[in-house]
Amino acid sequence: MSVSLGEARTMLGELLPPRQTRMTPLLGAYGLTLASDLQATVNHPSATESALDGVACREADTLSVPVRLELIGESRAGATFAGVVGPGQAVRIYTGAPLPAGADAICPVEQLEDVPGGVRLRRPASVADVRREGDDFRTGETVLYAGQRLTPARVALAAALGHAEVPTLAPLRVAVLSTGDELIEPGRPLVAGQVYNSNAYGLVGLLREAGCEAIMLPPVSDDLAALEAAVASARADVLLTSGGVSMGKYDFMRDLLIEHGEVRFWKVRMRPGGPAMLGGWKGLPVFGLPGNPVSSLVVFQVIVRPALTGRPLTPVRLRAGSAFRGLADKTAFWRVTVRGGEAFAYAQQGSGVLRSLSDAPALVMIPEGGLAAVGDEVDVLLLE
Ligand code: AMP
Ligand code: MG
Repeated sequence: MSVSLGEARTMLGELLPPRQTRMTPLLGAYGLTLASDLQATVNHPSATESALDGVACREADTLSVPVRLELIGESRAGATFAGVVGPGQAVRIYTGAPLPAGADAICPVEQLEDVPGGVRLRRPASVADVRREGDDFRTGETVLYAGQRLTPARVALAAALGHAEVPTLAPLRVAVLSTGDELIEPGRPLVAGQVYNSNAYGLVGLLREAGCEAIMLPPVSDDLAALEAAVASARADVLLTSGGVSMGKYDFMRDLLIEHGEVRFWKVRMRPGGPAMLGGWKGLPVFGLPGNPVSSLVVFQVIVRPALTGRPLTPVRLRAGSAFRGLADKTAFWRVTVRGGEAFAYAQQGSGVLRSLSDAPALVMIPEGGLAAVGDEVDVLLLE
């Protein structure tokens, strides 16, 4: 029942419920996914305007400098000069102000000298400093696309297009359940053999980054009945669990899905993170992440996040600063630091070494059977 990385992503994606579309005011839209394409309701700029503070004039009048032009008025943002700029004339103009009729070029303020009744230009006026109406986008043009994440820049763009609210996909509600008798919540004392529950805190953050509504459930002990009760309490579209899906006797999450639920796959051909499990419990899709801290976060990044958002992380090609061994039948992920365009293996690659993802927040991805020597190009996923 082992699957490849790509199969795991697809199978999780297929288990997700359909997403509702709703209109969301711009200030609530950050991080959400756009549900349909968006068109401009206006031209931007809405008029041909100046990109600088200076004077607007006729380029042909300024080809030999210095030259004196007569000042006949001003045009500022929101208040256009009403007249026409004739030969030998200029209008004082400010950034974003409409270009007056007759003028076709701008000379920046730094190149001007005030003289009685006018200005002297030290440099010819330039048409390059004129922004044409509709240069950025035109009315009716599609500028934002369904499936895009509404980053702050895209929310700003939606505002510039003239939309006060945007169609968004309702966020998926994802519950996070940590399992393990050894888990202690941070802030409480810990004795040898116990470990602070860190996975849930990473997963909730990653879910929020992925535009989901994350619900952290109280950790549950390694006990089949307790586990089943906890899973039953999850009011969510998807349940993410951590721990309890490996080969051990006390890995009850595995048993719960096998014996009382259903299993779509168990084990993904990747390292770290191999024992991940996908299944369901009474209609609730359940993705069982391995408990090892690095494994759980890496599996999230390369399987869960792409399935939830529809957008896999795009690798960048960098030069290998270290040699990277691949694995015959698994995709291998190495935590790396990136310096000077080269990827260097972090010294400790153990899947329990959580600080590696803080010190080296990037992953070199070596496909099944692959190998990279120093100097080869490798695919790197940048996690921050
Ligand atoms: P498991 O997958 O349950 O066998 O756990 C593998 C390793 O991950 C063990 O060392 C666990 O103590 C550790 N682990 C499991 N869950 C968590 C968690 N929520 N936070 C930190 N470490 C965990
Ligand atoms: Mg465990």
